[in-house]
Amino acid sequence: MRIYNTLTRRLEDFSPIKPPRVGLYTCGPTVYYYPHIGNWRTFVFEDVLRRALIFLGYDVVHVMNITDVGHLTGDNVGDADVGEDRIEKAAKQEGKTAWEVARFYTKDFVESRTKLNILPPTHFVSATDHIGDQIALIKKIEEKGFTYVTDLGVYFDVSKLPSYGILGGQKMIDKRVATREELKEDPQKRNPFDFALWKFSYVGGRSFNPQTDDPSNRRHMEWDSPWGVGFPGWHIECSAMSMKYLGEQFDIHTGGVDHIAIHHTNEIAQSLAATGKIPAKYWMHGEFLKVDGRRMGKSLGNAYTLHDIEDKGYEPLALRYLYLGAHYRDTLNFTWRSIDAAQKSLDNLRDLVLSAKTDKNRTILSSEKERKINDFSTSFRDAVEDDLNTSKALAVLWQALKSNIPSEDKYDLVLTFDEVLGLGLSSLESELFEIPKEVEDLIRKRESLRKAGDFKAADELRERIESMGFRVEDTAAGIRVTPRKSRIEK
Ligand code: AMP
Ligand code: ZN
Repeated sequence: MRIYNTLTRRLEDFSPIKPPRVGLYTCGPTVYYYPHIGNWRTFVFEDVLRRALIFLGYDVVHVMNITDVGHLTGDNVGDADVGEDRIEKAAKQEGKTAWEVARFYTKDFVESRTKLNILPPTHFVSATDHIGDQIALIKKIEEKGFTYVTDLGVYFDVSKLPSYGILGGQKMIDKRVATREELKEDPQKRNPFDFALWKFSYVGGRSFNPQTDDPSNRRHMEWDSPWGVGFPGWHIECSAMSMKYLGEQFDIHTGGVDHIAIHHTNEIAQSLAATGKIPAKYWMHGEFLKVDGRRMGKSLGNAYTLHDIEDKGYEPLALRYLYLGAHYRDTLNFTWRSIDAAQKSLDNLRDLVLSAKTDKNRTILSSEKERKINDFSTSFRDAVEDDLNTSKALAVLWQALKSNIPSEDKYDLVLTFDEVLGLGLSSLESELFEIPKEVEDLIRKRESLRKAGDFKAADELRERIESMGFRVEDTAAGIRVTPRKSRIEK
């Protein structure tokens, strides 16, 4: 398989350190809110990667972290270490404890992950369960002379590491210099690129003082450490947990492209300081999802969640289908029109799969058809091995289903291809469904409105019918009615 390695900036032949084992670390969600559909794009890309590796015969050990502490509001923009802890901030806003917030959104993440058919990681591990491992790693970095302590925390001193920033290269460093935030937060920080390994809850790392401190400002999540009471910085959790579960060097580390400049750069710095090694051999990054051509943002009101997609009547798997249509290294633009088209394509795809599955005719293979079947298999595998060319892989699936090869062979191909695509095509059930009388009346009424040229009223009726769980399509053969619900076996 060929994959693009951000570290070397080129396509490389994938060769694991200890085949057939592949150690895969994917940065997980920060559980302070529902992930948006941009986050889900990255998680689905990582799932396709994992499925592709399994499909190609590797034994994948997949670790995903849950960031439930230490990710600050400013950590993804400009410099690290500015702003409030996202979980603690959400706790204040929601009137819950930080622990409750983390538990609630972790549960939501797992449920939503299942709806998107994302395989559960081998190890799904949270930062707060690994405080001791993080402290031990910080100590190791300290012993090697890469840290200093200020009134606000323990920092990694990037001036001690000449190779700092190799992941994104000089261009990225220049860009960070140009866009960096002012160092308002900690005047004792020596270099703007230095980042916190441990942050103190109170100046100097002292403990909470009930006489002088306001209890409402007390952090819900804080721990004692050799440097004082506080909490870990965001980057140290991934270094500590990847080392613990995958060793000092493993095969692939992934995330969204925003992680290149800061989070993964700092992870590499921590590992180089502690072990002298870059933790992963290959670094893969998913490009961003945009909405209506714009960056997604909570403040812009376009950071849609999976629940927003479902509320509008679309299936999570339609979103997965939409993601698969673009290469993971290309920007993808989400619009409501595009999810609508994806849902229709998925519905049509399922129809083709079901008719292949339920076709009782059996055909004796001709050599021409046998060759075709082999060609489809080879093209699909080539697409997967070509840096995860999912749109090509989907196209091969459609070609196979529309070809003249026997139905049973079509269905066999579907079962194999869906191991990578994960669209739930292998568990489709043909359903005989009834159209309720009420719905049928509405369909007839809509038809007469259309005939009378009142398309506005007809469209309103269509929406009503859809809200009752049925999709209506006008085809050459007549009106086609399908249940909108997923036909996946539960
Ligand atoms: P976070 O919960 O902020 O750590 O983000 C989870 C994952 O989503 C990370 O791998 C991010 O790089 C990725 N991500 C964030 N925004 C987007 C976006 N608009 N499109 C695709 N991936 C994103
Ligand atoms: Zn991470």
